[in-house]
Amino acid sequence: MLKEYELGTIYKGKLETGDDLLEKLTEIVKEKEITAGKVIALGAVKEAIISFYDQDKQEYEAEKLDESLEIVSLTGNISLKDGAPIIHAHIALGDEDGQLYGGHLEKGTTVFACEFIIEEYEGEAFTRGLDQQTGLPLWVK
Ligand code: ZN
Repeated sequence: MLKEYELGTIYKGKLETGDDLLEKLTEIVKEKEITAGKVIALGAVKEAIISFYDQDKQEYEAEKLDESLEIVSLTGNISLKDGAPIIHAHIALGDEDGQLYGGHLEKGTTVFACEFIIEEYEGEAFTRGLDQQTGLPLWVK
């Protein structure tokens, strides 16, 4: 499955201390009615929830990281699920020793500081639906 896009508007911004990282980015994407695009960010969080998809059990296992961490990298894509824009993002978080934790970004990750860039792509959005083989809400059209 492959689609072609033209680059649309590029947004840069910062989030506020205490914002929920995924919820706030999703709110912005919904406000701007972006249905296809890319999200990248860096900064720091006060605490985080990341998850790992257990391929055998076909379920996400969430892990709470209850400490200050650097957002070494956040990369995500924007598509549609149930008619609304959704961000699928993965995050790499570093502790004071430079050790990394990473996974699927979940709600409940609290921003300390965050600078983000959202690129809007013009073209037909991907739509998520249940993929039988993986149990994941993948792009189905
Ligand atoms: Zn994921």
